[in-house]
Amino acid sequence: MRLFAERAWLPAGLAADVLIEVAAGRFAAVTPGGAAGDARRLPGVVLPGLANAHSHAFHRALRGRTSGGDFWSWRHGMYAVAARLDPDRYLALARATYAEMALAGVTAVGEFHYLHHGPGGTPYADPNAMAGALREAAADAGIRLTLLDTCYLAGGLGPGGHLPLEEVQRRFSDGTAAAWAERVSALRESPGVRVGAAIHSVRAVPAADLGTVAGAPGPLHVHLSEQPAENEACLAVHGVTPARLLAEAGALGPRTTAVHATHLTAADVALLGRSGTTACFCPTTEQDLADGIGPARELRDAGAPLALGSDQHAVTDLLTEARCLEAHERLRSRRRGIFSPAELLAALTRHAAIGWPDAGRIEVGARADLVAVRTDTVRTAGTRADQLPLVATAADVDTVVADGTEVVTAGRHRLGDVPRLLAAAITPLWTGD
Ligand SMILES: [Zn+2]
Repeated sequence: MRLFAERAWLPAGLAADVLIEVAAGRFAAVTPGGAAGDARRLPGVVLPGLANAHSHAFHRALRGRTSGGDFWSWRHGMYAVAARLDPDRYLALARATYAEMALAGVTAVGEFHYLHHGPGGTPYADPNAMAGALREAAADAGIRLTLLDTCYLAGGLGPGGHLPLEEVQRRFSDGTAAAWAERVSALRESPGVRVGAAIHSVRAVPAADLGTVAGAPGPLHVHLSEQPAENEACLAVHGVTPARLLAEAGALGPRTTAVHATHLTAADVALLGRSGTTACFCPTTEQDLADGIGPARELRDAGAPLALGSDQHAVTDLLTEARCLEAHERLRSRRRGIFSPAELLAALTRHAAIGWPDAGRIEVGARADLVAVRTDTVRTAGTRADQLPLVATAADVDTVVADGTEVVTAGRHRLGDVPRLLAAAITPLWTGD
């Protein structure tokens, strides 16, 4: 594959007239100042493929159906959908959800996967059948999958300690951390699939079990301090913040990603930064669920790399997540330009947070992931190429290549009519059909 970009975002910054050659799924040559020759011309500005570092695929079914209420009433709706999913319905929903992500320029997704078992918590004949559905969905959609298999053992954390599981939560639980580890040990990696682990939260995993999950190989993710109630309960029960509790369990460090990181103390920020833990912000979710605004700039300054995720998919648009990261900081600080476009692009392409350190850069040897973003749409016309991350949306994505394979061409996914796939997967979950 030989491609030509009038503008491409390379590791050193924007470059002009870049000839890109792809072989065996990798960039074989990247030559700025070249001539197009017989190479195919890509429109607009070419960016590295985007990394969606935090996803729960099935939450896509909740979009446009949970207005009003609070975080906890939204969670109630989410549980109602979870109760109606089986491996076949999960495959259809995840396939369409991942195709929508590809249309937004995503080339790899970190799936924080906790819907493991059948109704009542009874394992399927294959205890990893639901993970298998995700694997197949990502392959069909043409994006890489990092299966962050999530340990979920308790129904919550109250002032008196951990709560028993509610009925639907039984589907999330393996019963014990040892049983979780046993099931996860059967998961296999493949060229497009990495296996990692996740601690759902300090609400759902007792302190004594954190070390077991933290000891698993691969990337480690955890929901951290999304709601003040989690902090209050953690302080009441353990006498420390969730971040401190995770640090004491050995769960922070360069292979860890803390998701949300919204309600942190100054000491928590220092702890995450010093340990090299990535902070993954999900701004459209944090807006939708009225979570609050986390200390993104402080975390970055303290040493924590940043990543972005679409989480519950109220919006599937990583470029919008990046713009909201900056916008939230502006509202919080009443200053502009808190993150440069290059810093936003770094957060958009942090594939290392989901176990793909050889992706996210257009350079020789890296995985051949790229996104061509149009600069001639109503949103982008007349803008400067170097400010595109502050302007463009998923609707401006024209071409997407993942691991050297073209997945989106002229704004169309290879699976065809993705809105129809989404509707066909979601409608039966709400009508009982
Ligand atoms: Zn989440």
